[in-house]
Amino acid sequence: MEFINLKAQYNAYKSEIDDAIAAVLSSGQFIMGKEVEALENALANYVSAKYAISCSSGTDALLIALLAIGVGAGDEVITPAFTFAATAEAIALIGAKPVFTDVKERDANIDPKLIERAITPKTKAIIPVSLYGNCADFDEIERVASDRKIAVIEDGCQSFGAIYKGKKSGALSDIGTTSFFPSKPLGCYGDGGAIFTSDKNLAKKIEQIRNHGQEGRYEHTAIGLNGRLDALQAAILNVKLKHFDDELQTRRKLASGYNAAFDESKRIFYDQNGVAAQYTIRVKNRDKVVETLTKLGVPSAVHYPKPLHIQKAFSYLGYKEGDLPISEKLSNEVLSLPFSAFLTQEEQEKVISAVKEATC
Ligand SMILES: *Cc1c(COP(=O)(O)O)cnc(C)c1O
Repeated sequence: MEFINLKAQYNAYKSEIDDAIAAVLSSGQFIMGKEVEALENALANYVSAKYAISCSSGTDALLIALLAIGVGAGDEVITPAFTFAATAEAIALIGAKPVFTDVKERDANIDPKLIERAITPKTKAIIPVSLYGNCADFDEIERVASDRKIAVIEDGCQSFGAIYKGKKSGALSDIGTTSFFPSKPLGCYGDGGAIFTSDKNLAKKIEQIRNHGQEGRYEHTAIGLNGRLDALQAAILNVKLKHFDDELQTRRKLASGYNAAFDESKRIFYDQNGVAAQYTIRVKNRDKVVETLTKLGVPSAVHYPKPLHIQKAFSYLGYKEGDLPISEKLSNEVLSLPFSAFLTQEEQEKVISAVKEATC
């Protein structure tokens, strides 16, 4: 059994994907070009944002978003400690200070009440993460941020396709970001990402920063980077995006299947309108459970075993163990189960009975 069955997905769309790749190879256009343009239009349309700017990864999407807003040295950016390192890395790389807050135990997303307490005059932005494909509580976050003129950037690297109160992930705040890393809900065959906004000025800055700060060829009016998406990845995404809603339906059905099997106290809460980037349960003696699952032929993974505030890379910030207890508790208990639109019913049943055996 595969943890995420990318091979089955490729086989399902093989002829379309092979044709799309061949067309790029014979076109000789490898960076930007018409596949990228088509993808950006399709993404903007899908998310209902005015602008979608593709880029080289989810990490670069966050970096470019922060640069576009003008976050820099001395600024503080509030973000959850229970996330992938990239969220805080982007903040630290540009010389700003990550301010970590704890998350809610139910869905592992940032706790808006704690954001309010973490705000100082130096707070320039908030990066909520829509973890595990469930959107963070953007109404509450916007309420805290908007009257203080603090920018909100969604880290939607796990939530492309999720819906929050009728709006799509990516279009929930000033800027939304996502990742097309192969194992994400919408993945390419390499690295890729996208940035969403409906603000014309921000969109222009984002586009410029993505391509070395150029405003016209070899006219550099800002400091930027090489953050472009290549045409092959765009062509692959153009194929996969067409099948994405069908996959989402299957993902939601599979998530409901897991929801029915595991008591809510023993798992992460999954929203009906989320995309279940991972399906994650909570167990007490995780090493033992993983050992039994492995013996029973069921792969699993831990997202994430150590929260960022106690990672060595962020030790300069001065946090210590015990500071963010829910993030620490979740890190000790979470375990992600095999999940993708290509997980079969039989495989899911096998996973469920293996988990029951391993946790009894
Ligand atoms: C995957 C991920 C990223 C980084 O995306 P890349 O495309 O791998 O750079 C950032 N934040 C979260 C929450 C992620 O899951």
